[in-house]
Amino acid sequence: MKLGLILADQLTTNLASLRALDPEQDMLVMAEVAEEAQYVAHHKQKIALLFSAMRHFSAQLQAAGWRIHYHHYQPDSPHRSLVEVIQAVCFEYDIETLVVTECGEHRLQRAIDEDWQNQLSLPVECYQDDRFISSQEEFKSWASGRKQLRMEFFYREMRRKTGLLMEQGEPCGGQWNFDQDNRKRYKGAVALVPRIRHEQDEIDQQVLELVEREFPKHPGTMEHFNWATTREQAQAELSHFIQHRLPHFGDYQDAMVSGEHTLFHSLIAPYLNCGLLTPLEVCQQVELAYQQGKAPLNAAEGFIRQIIGWREYVRGIYWLLMPQYGQQNQLNNQRQLPGYFWHGNTRMKCMSECFESTFRNAYAHHIQRLMITGNFSLLAGITPQQVCDWYLAVYADAYDWVELPNTLGMVMHADGGYLASKPYAASGNYINKMSDYCKHCSYSVKTSSEENSCPFNSLYWHFIQRHQQQFEKNPRMAMIYRSWTKMADEKQQAIIHRAEYLLEHIEEL
Ligand code: FAD
Ligand code: SF4
Repeated sequence: MKLGLILADQLTTNLASLRALDPEQDMLVMAEVAEEAQYVAHHKQKIALLFSAMRHFSAQLQAAGWRIHYHHYQPDSPHRSLVEVIQAVCFEYDIETLVVTECGEHRLQRAIDEDWQNQLSLPVECYQDDRFISSQEEFKSWASGRKQLRMEFFYREMRRKTGLLMEQGEPCGGQWNFDQDNRKRYKGAVALVPRIRHEQDEIDQQVLELVEREFPKHPGTMEHFNWATTREQAQAELSHFIQHRLPHFGDYQDAMVSGEHTLFHSLIAPYLNCGLLTPLEVCQQVELAYQQGKAPLNAAEGFIRQIIGWREYVRGIYWLLMPQYGQQNQLNNQRQLPGYFWHGNTRMKCMSECFESTFRNAYAHHIQRLMITGNFSLLAGITPQQVCDWYLAVYADAYDWVELPNTLGMVMHADGGYLASKPYAASGNYINKMSDYCKHCSYSVKTSSEENSCPFNSLYWHFIQRHQQQFEKNPRMAMIYRSWTKMADEKQQAIIHRAEYLLEHIEEL
């Protein structure tokens, strides 16, 4: 008999390893184990979402005729890792082969490849994860020989490959990318539609209680838990997004509003990443909405680009460059992550808005992650590995393969520009343009060197000045360096002085 291992992020009935097994003869194992739940201090809501989705998925497979060994989380279980649970199953049943679908995380895949065959004395059959549009091999061959990788060119390949938003070999609307239409500030012209609410069943409630009881020290709160834990619920959330939010997704993709943490975003990343939804079906439904006139092209294209462009691209980079990628720190940042990243108390309104959403919902949208908490970490020169650990811990959608390139590459520029051609560094001016945060902040966004001036302003110039050697020849940063050089010496000194003061007192901001 073969034994199929289904991981927490493989909750897809059409998974490659399930297709390779036979419910009449083989069996499956699923496990909630301490090692996976605790190797990072995951947000409580993420653990609850995954345990509950796993239990629902297991019930669904059993109803379809599969025999499953399901290991429920027990704090004092002697089986603390996946391999220990599998060993216990092998002890009980006559297992000839372990069957897996390649895992999302390098750490686990390496353990399977290098250790498990010996530990289990079993052959391991590993299938490609074809839920992704591009295989690891395909990405490697696209990347080989290129000095610098750019998402836009990869994305075009993915459009051609999937045929999404293509007409007779050409992109719909005559251009590949409509990002120039997607930078509006939200001023209330379109009503916001609240997120769908998911009913909780007995399985959800048992899991929520378990997480409150067993993981009290993990970040976040559970009160506002509202994640889908079944495929049906995830599909309902997707349909709700397509109907109510997609039409404005493009326009307000970069907007930020006090007290409104989800705006026109989809919140489907946790479902895509654990397998309740698959990327191609999501994009096909969005394309259909465009074809039926229910969503404009800038929204549909912008959304599809995030999934078949960015999501596939960062995964490709991860598998191309791991494990060395995770250790990079090309800007040589050495500062510790300030305590407010964990407790959320700061006078900076923009940051406190992001922390509130993060701890309350295990969610912050992309621009909050990139241009607020990420931008601050970049400007302040925080150690990239500490920043990565934080992002991996606090979001319901966080998985190493997608979090690491986004944080280390896109946000921290710690890979020397392999993923992004220039750092996403910005002063308070950008935040003021895209949000209403500064209006409610006790710092002044209009000033840079005075007492009480916005920390992002002086830290921005401090960043520009301290990395002059690395970036002044970058054509995309030439204008900024010209402005810096033209600035009067006195003004420069006052700004740098203010930034140094802030860095010394970083815990008090
Ligand atoms: P929407 O705004 O509705 O976008 C639709 C979908 O596009 C998302 O669900 C997601 O699947 C995909 N997507 C959008 N941008 C990206 C991107 N840059 N990389 C990969 N996929 C993208 N995304 C994760 O799924 N997991 C992570 O651990 C993660 N960590 C991040 C860390 C940092 C520092 C940054 C800047 C971004 C990170 N992202 C991560 C990408 C992005 O912020 C989230 O995918 C998005 O905010 C999820 O919310 P949503 O589902 O409402 O997305
Ligand atoms: Fe953030 Fe500065 Fe605006 Fe305050 S003034 S909200 S710190 S950008």
